[in-house]
Amino acid sequence: MGYENATICINGHVMSASDSNVQPFCSKCGKPTISECTHCGSPLHGMYEIPGVVCLGAKYHKDLYCYNCGNPYPWTESIINSAVEILSLDEELSKENIDILKNAIPDLLVDTPQTPVATARYKRFLDKTQNFIKNSLYQLFVDGLSDTVKKSLFPQDPQ
Ligand SMILES: [Zn+2]
Ligand SMILES: [Zn+2]
Repeated sequence: MGYENATICINGHVMSASDSNVQPFCSKCGKPTISECTHCGSPLHGMYEIPGVVCLGAKYHKDLYCYNCGNPYPWTESIINSAVEILSLDEELSKENIDILKNAIPDLLVDTPQTPVATARYKRFLDKTQNFIKNSLYQLFVDGLSDTVKKSLFPQDPQ
């Protein structure tokens, strides 16, 4: 019983949820892959293996943060950095407000006691901002949000 290894590219494409170092580069985006945390070297968790139980079709969710050192994995950092760039396109938004929204991102992606606060902050921002910014944030976040946060922030899929 325990976790398999995983090979994931720095953009977050999962190359394998059961083996480490299956290929040096991502076949989807061409970026380097990793099988260990870039901060502490702990192996990335793949599928959770229970002996005697075959979970056909079980969906693998990659971790956002390292279970050993708590640092965000490269794909999580890249979501946060991209969000800041999208937020900067709103010319009405002050640097201070960008920072507030930036700091709220981790609580949007993972359920924490601060998730309702983060959701409220984004809801207020999304109500005011332009559609193209809303759509870009939707595309960036959609895979990472829980259903509750998604319904609250994007009651209808923009697109
Ligand atoms: Zn990739
Ligand atoms: Zn680590």
